[in-house]
Amino acid sequence: MTRLPAVGNHCMPSWDIGFEDVDIPADALMGEPGQGLRNMGKTLAHSRTGQAALAIGLAQAACDAAKTYVIERRQFGQRIADFQVIRHRLVDMQTRVDQARLLLYYLCWLLSAGKPCRKETAQLKIVATETLEAVSAQAMHMTASFGYSQDTPLQRYWRDGRLFTFGEGANELQRDFVAREIGL
Ligand SMILES: Cc1cc2nc3c(=O)[nH]c(=O)nc-3n(C[C@H](O)[C@H](O)[C@H](O)COP(=O)(O)OP(=O)(O)OC[C@H]3O[C@@H](n4cnc5c(N)ncnc54)[C@H](O)[C@@H]3O)c2cc1C
Repeated sequence: MTRLPAVGNHCMPSWDIGFEDVDIPADALMGEPGQGLRNMGKTLAHSRTGQAALAIGLAQAACDAAKTYVIERRQFGQRIADFQVIRHRLVDMQTRVDQARLLLYYLCWLLSAGKPCRKETAQLKIVATETLEAVSAQAMHMTASFGYSQDTPLQRYWRDGRLFTFGEGANELQRDFVAREIGL
């Protein structure tokens, strides 16, 4: 096992692991032989939903931090929040987070009702993780040197957010799933 130093998500250390000549006793088999991929697929619907929820929480935290900053910070004789371009940008950020959250609630309903949700799981993964990527970058820009400082949590949201667009299956793969589901 080799520890992999990661850019973010330091609460979840990463290790490179390998298996060689490992005998697995027959009574350790989980599920039916030949059904591994199908079973893992069911697990992924839940884990991708959890990951999307995490991404939405981080994106909301980035919005909140940016909002606090632009309300408090004054430049050119006024609050930064009073520049229309800043107000509109923050509204667009919050709207993206709210859209992702609504899709999350819909997917949770599908999952708990036991309804098919392959397309919606992939769509939520794309929407939530790309929302976090965009919103955390905009929040960093909006808070400038304050947000860039290691002493503030914004840089952590931004760093941690890099993982989500490829973790649990890169978003290109999610787009391939959606393409298949809509008959392309
Ligand atoms: C911090 C961290 C924690 C992790 N935790 C886990 C874990 O708990 N369990 C686990 O199983 N894995 C875990 N992973 C692995 C993670 O799921 C993989 O990093 C992810 O699936 C991408 O695989 P890869 O890194 O091998 O990238 P690659 O497969 O090398 O892909 C690199 C890039 O190529 C592009 N790409 C790849 N395939 C396609 C395609 N078909 N079409 C178009 N573009 C494509 C995408 O842009 C992709 O981001 C973790 C990774 C990190 C960094």
